[in-house]
Amino acid sequence: MIKAESISKSFGKLEVLKEISLEVKQGEVVAIIGPSGSGKSTFLRCINHLESIDSGNVYFDGQPIGFKQLPNGKKAPIKGKELCQLRSQIGMVFQKFNLFPHMTALENVMEGPITVLGKSKTEARDLAEELLAKVGLADKAENYPSQLSGGQQQRVAIARALAMKPKVMLFDEPTSALDPELVGEVLNVMKNLANEGMTMIVVTHEMGFAREVADRVVFMDDGKILEIGKPENIFTSPKHPRTKDFLRSVL
Ligand code: ADP
Ligand code: MG
Repeated sequence: MIKAESISKSFGKLEVLKEISLEVKQGEVVAIIGPSGSGKSTFLRCINHLESIDSGNVYFDGQPIGFKQLPNGKKAPIKGKELCQLRSQIGMVFQKFNLFPHMTALENVMEGPITVLGKSKTEARDLAEELLAKVGLADKAENYPSQLSGGQQQRVAIARALAMKPKVMLFDEPTSALDPELVGEVLNVMKNLANEGMTMIVVTHEMGFAREVADRVVFMDDGKILEIGKPENIFTSPKHPRTKDFLRSVL
């Protein structure tokens, strides 16, 4: 579903991603862990081309993201509508919920399907109601973001991403900005999504979640993937000394 092939990315002289490769199969849940500044967010942003890559390739469902192959063998950048269309199939949820403050929960979820997918208001409303129910917020549809807790706002953000019917969901530390007692409700929604077979890449500090829900865990450090494996292997017998150090510091 997602294939990153030797991708590199620098900000000025700072090399943030160093030839990273990762394949994620349909239905797979991959957790990315690692110290702050190791390039996890940049990696996610490169996957949906919110950030351009300097070298390497990212494929989504077999299609290159960012570039398309021309018949003469050369590459041409994908832009505008085409990029939007591709990106709409990759849902993203950030640490900061970024809901539209002047719209109700329901309107926030309806917005994408109407403006990007061209759905009718009725259709968008039905879908939004269904998705808010799915994330346990059927009774909050008419609330504005300021009238919702952080956990509820993040669940609206997940419903909003799902409204685009994505084939993959990317999560960048979705619970890091939440009060501890609100983390569980968001993780539960994500766990249900995983159980339904959604393909997911989740950058997280929640080791319990990674251990329980992820099919594979990726340890990133200093712009590289140092270790990748099943959660039981990574958490009980990490091979790389840096993974050991990191786990010792967070567990
Ligand atoms: P992580 O998510 O693992 O904490 P990031 O991907 O956010 O790491 O950042 C990796 C490195 O890239 C950090 O040193 C960060 O300061 C730097 N960085 C991230 N985004 C930018 C940017 N837009 N411009 C310059 N440097 C950046
Ligand atoms: Mg980050």
